[in-house]
Amino acid sequence: MPDIPAYDIIVIGAGPAGLTAGLYAGRGGLRAAVIEKMMPGGLVANTERIDNYPGFPDGISGDDLTQRMQAQAARFGAQFVSDEAQSIAAEPKSFLVTLASRAQVRAKALIVATGAYPKRLGVPGEQELLGKGVSYCAVCDGAFFRGQDVAVVGGGDSAVQESVYLAGLCSKVTVVHRRSALRAAESLQKIAFKNGKISFSWNKAVVAIEGGRQVEGLRVMDKETMKDEVLPVSGVFIYVGYHPNSGVVKDLVKLDDNGYLVTDQNMMTSVPGIFAAGDVRQKLVRQISAAVGDAATAAIAAQQYIDNL
Ligand code: NAP
Repeated sequence: MPDIPAYDIIVIGAGPAGLTAGLYAGRGGLRAAVIEKMMPGGLVANTERIDNYPGFPDGISGDDLTQRMQAQAARFGAQFVSDEAQSIAAEPKSFLVTLASRAQVRAKALIVATGAYPKRLGVPGEQELLGKGVSYCAVCDGAFFRGQDVAVVGGGDSAVQESVYLAGLCSKVTVVHRRSALRAAESLQKIAFKNGKISFSWNKAVVAIEGGRQVEGLRVMDKETMKDEVLPVSGVFIYVGYHPNSGVVKDLVKLDDNGYLVTDQNMMTSVPGIFAAGDVRQKLVRQISAAVGDAATAAIAAQQYIDNL
């Protein structure tokens, strides 16, 4: 049997929270591994422009910010493991993590920074037309709809921000929202309202996404008149919130009713030695700046936990 690699801290997930946890752990002199099943960056890597992360007065792309965060964590010795954490076993004074490759790694403390994934609308056509006009990522798929009409579903920061991005590529963007007021930040709303290519379809429930080989339309119902109509679009971008990626620890630590990890103010979960940071954690604000703050706290608290073992 090969020896199981042992670390002080294993960080699961390499979005802004995971990369920051890797940076702080490495800089704190700990042997740290950051496990990521996809490309580093998480949801942020697919964000075209970030305007509210301090230090970048002209904004920065999600991809660029990710690369800088990863390079900084690597400079302080964080090791990156490209694999998926599939299960965790608590041992006396350590945790054994089994990966999708069947390899195992062990650490004295864990930081769960697995983020969140996009919620589905759950309407007919959504699953069938996924990749054929239905998308959850404007930066990934927007270019396929250059010069075409698309719809964006949702009224939060993501929907409005990505509508502005799509307006730079598409001929027309219709934001379909279930209420008559947006949830998005005022500053984002102002930009969208000023954009001549973006229009709003208020008080609409999405009934179905229609099409054969490709999306041909979005069927919506007016919530007051109960009448439905089809918006003729070739792309539907869905931004109706997120679910936490908490499956790997769901049987181990306390989750709230929506599946988010419950932590104390030091980011420790209900299990001593397991910490959480970023969007997977129960909290009010889901921003990059909040995620990196969580991660700094989690890494320092994890170091103190290890020192006290
Ligand atoms: P969100 O804030 O949860 O907003 C989801 C939107 O989808 C809401 O407008 C909601 O409508 C609508 N919605 C939910 N379920 C729906 C359904 N079944 N059918 C139709 N509409 C539905 O999600 P988000 O915009 O993705 O943002 C997630 C978090 O990331 C937030 O904390 C946000 O602030 C943050 N974020 C920040 C930025 C930024 O700072 N630039 C960018 C992106 C995301 P109601 O309004 O009626 O509930």
